[in-house]
Amino acid sequence: MCDAHVIDAVKASMLSAPPSRRMSRRRMLGLGLAAASAGGVAMMPSARADTPKRVVDLTYPLHADFPTFSGEAQFSMEAQATHAGDGYADFNLMMGEHTGTHIDAPLHFSADGLSVDALEPRHLITPLVVIDIRAKAEHNPDAQLTPDDIRAFTKRFGDIPLYASVVMRSGWQRFMGTGRYRGFDGTSQHYPGFHVEAVEMLIEDGNAASIGVDTLSLDYGATTDFATHRAWLPSGRFGIENLANLDAVPEHGAQIFIGAPKHQGGSGGPARILAVV
Ligand SMILES: [Zn+2]
Repeated sequence: MCDAHVIDAVKASMLSAPPSRRMSRRRMLGLGLAAASAGGVAMMPSARADTPKRVVDLTYPLHADFPTFSGEAQFSMEAQATHAGDGYADFNLMMGEHTGTHIDAPLHFSADGLSVDALEPRHLITPLVVIDIRAKAEHNPDAQLTPDDIRAFTKRFGDIPLYASVVMRSGWQRFMGTGRYRGFDGTSQHYPGFHVEAVEMLIEDGNAASIGVDTLSLDYGATTDFATHRAWLPSGRFGIENLANLDAVPEHGAQIFIGAPKHQGGSGGPARILAVV
């Protein structure tokens, strides 16, 4: 509604008028003039900013029976105070760093790598990329996410965004609470993970800051050399294991919030992971 000569006339009258007669900022906003006169910075209310977003919790509850890589329990809590005895509740936690939905910091596989407290904040609120390998993992617990799966994603949705968290959706959540989640056959474990060539491709591309899996390990369960851990973590990037609810987020367009713990010198730890869709 404000064409250029009207705006110029208002500017001229504001600059020539004494302060008491100058149009207030609030009034300018009311007239919708501020956006045009503030160097292109949009000052008008945005409808998009008010749009409700859906938050998806990608974190499993942590408890004593949560499956672990070793097969041994890695979490317990002991009451230090109780409502009945003390009037308030307080627990001591005992846990391995690599239990539950958790972070693998570079230090986990790299003696001089970043510890979990040193992760860059800008790598913790980032675009979420979901690479779906459910079809090939359906009947093959040793399935791996390969460079072809990444190519299929980029062909459909474009480049991996800067600082993205690239996560594998294998459908393994359906086995949580059963022996198949760990898939131990007496010799080795069986569940999907990233193929080492896939993480080498992401390192070469340079944009991803983290990878994540809906299984116990970044490497597939049957690995004997942890090639994916050994390639990815020493590159200065981190991992997330045991992600939940990946079927509730889109392959492209969501944001992930990675609530990494901050104990100094740690190699990882249980984390609260959320997606905003
Ligand atoms: Zn771990």
